[in-house]
Amino acid sequence: MSTVAPRADLESLPKYVPGRTIQGAIKLASNEVPGGALPSVAKALAEAATGINRYPDTGSQALRDRLAADLAVPVERIAVGCGSVSLCQQLVQAVCAPGDEVIFGWRSFEAYPIVTQVANAVGVRVPLTAGHGLDLDAMLAAITPRTRLIFVCNPNNPTGTTVRRAELERFLDAVPGHVLVALDEAYREFVTDREVPDGIEFTRTRDNVTVLRTFSKAYGLAGLRVGYAVAPEPIADALRQVYVAFSVNMLAQVAAIASLDAADELLTRCREIVGERERVHAALLEAGYEVPPTQANFVWLPLGDRAAAFAEYLMDRKLIVRPFQGDGVRVTIGTREENDLFLEAAREFLR
Ligand SMILES: *Cc1c(COP(=O)(O)O)cnc(C)c1O
Repeated sequence: MSTVAPRADLESLPKYVPGRTIQGAIKLASNEVPGGALPSVAKALAEAATGINRYPDTGSQALRDRLAADLAVPVERIAVGCGSVSLCQQLVQAVCAPGDEVIFGWRSFEAYPIVTQVANAVGVRVPLTAGHGLDLDAMLAAITPRTRLIFVCNPNNPTGTTVRRAELERFLDAVPGHVLVALDEAYREFVTDREVPDGIEFTRTRDNVTVLRTFSKAYGLAGLRVGYAVAPEPIADALRQVYVAFSVNMLAQVAAIASLDAADELLTRCREIVGERERVHAALLEAGYEVPPTQANFVWLPLGDRAAAFAEYLMDRKLIVRPFQGDGVRVTIGTREENDLFLEAAREFLR
């Protein structure tokens, strides 16, 4: 008798570990912003909710038009996805044949190896530098005739480190024209270092650069799932071809536009988080932790084998952080009160 079996290789697929949510605990595990929906966004959602019997616009035309205007990019070069994690997978599907290679730093965004394997491509992990940043020279050296795509996560999740303009330009100059570079800028709105370039500038002058952005982080819409890519036109076309029809739902499209209308207010919230980031970073250094400089809404504690113990210690104090055992712990910046509770527990841990 024969039975249906899933693809054999799925057994080796790394699991995406979501940040845990526990009643009554403070969640600093998923790089969400602490503020809930703005009244204007909630109102737009409530009004739109009466139309949920209709399918959404599968082309997300109104949202794409708005992004095109705001970013000064032709609308043909914008593709949307059900979160930018979906766009990561669409990119692999759009450029890789089975067995083609996708390069990314490690550690970097934990979805990269998963979406790569799901799309039947081969992930190539390039270790970070001693300073916990992307090693662009080593990533260049990892390019082979089978390489089709390179993810450059800037700032890097989970370490918060960045690559700066001169370094990135040198890298882009050296990458062969047939290899696509995806600049994953999920945390762009938290960047204050002016030497960290806005990737969209590169998409104006280079045919092999794509930028990925999301409404989940600074714009506070993680629960609604919408992100976008600014890509060369043939790549944007291909991203739309592999898009699962209707997967950016109508409420997500409406909320994204309402959030762009409220960008000033939302970006003010981001500046407050940046202020807290600087305060938390300094306090951790003072307490004796090694903490790489961060330009995102989280800090990285390279605790190595003590990562799980640290996370458990904090869990006992009702603080949820994100451990990567063997490497370190990522802690999202929360409200001032939440950050104070975290800092207190982190100081205690060292005693
Ligand atoms: C959070 C995150 C994303 C995407 O999030 P979505 O919610 O899927 O839009 C993409 N890249 C990185 C590096 C992230 O941290």
